[in-house]
Amino acid sequence: MTALAGLAAGMLGRGAALGVLEDAMRAALTAAGARLLEAVLARGDGYAGPHAKCASGHQAVFAGRRPKAITTVLGPVQVTRAWYHCRECGHGFAPRDAQLGTAGTSLSPGLAEMIARVGAEVPFRQGRRAAEGPGRGRCERQDDRAVRRGVRRGGPRRGRD
Ligand SMILES: [Zn+2]
Repeated sequence: MTALAGLAAGMLGRGAALGVLEDAMRAALTAAGARLLEAVLARGDGYAGPHAKCASGHQAVFAGRRPKAITTVLGPVQVTRAWYHCRECGHGFAPRDAQLGTAGTSLSPGLAEMIARVGAEVPFRQGRRAAEGPGRGRCERQDDRAVRRGVRRGGPRRGRD
């Protein structure tokens, strides 16, 4: 944080406009927030023992851990989730996804709500710019599709992986 303040002071000393400083600080703080969020999420992976019940009530078997990228209001974060496979249903699931509200989506609940709110109020291009905010850079292609779905349906997609 002190290094960021020093960097900002140096930029201001070289004649950078306040808006440039604001963008740089917002980007730095958002990135730091994403790393903090990632660290908090790394404290658990949803492991529920060698077996866990699937949505249909079958006994699914622990099948290792899988990474997942989640796009949050702070930017992308990586999480590791315990993965269970249900032989009867023929598919797998991560209990952690249900805990985090990210089952079947790569959008965090906070970002999905933001997209739905913005999408309900403004046309797509304006909504995308508002969701990105200054200094956040452009949304990735998959998130663009999510924004469009949010605009069309009035809410984010919810489903299975
Ligand atoms: Zn099952």
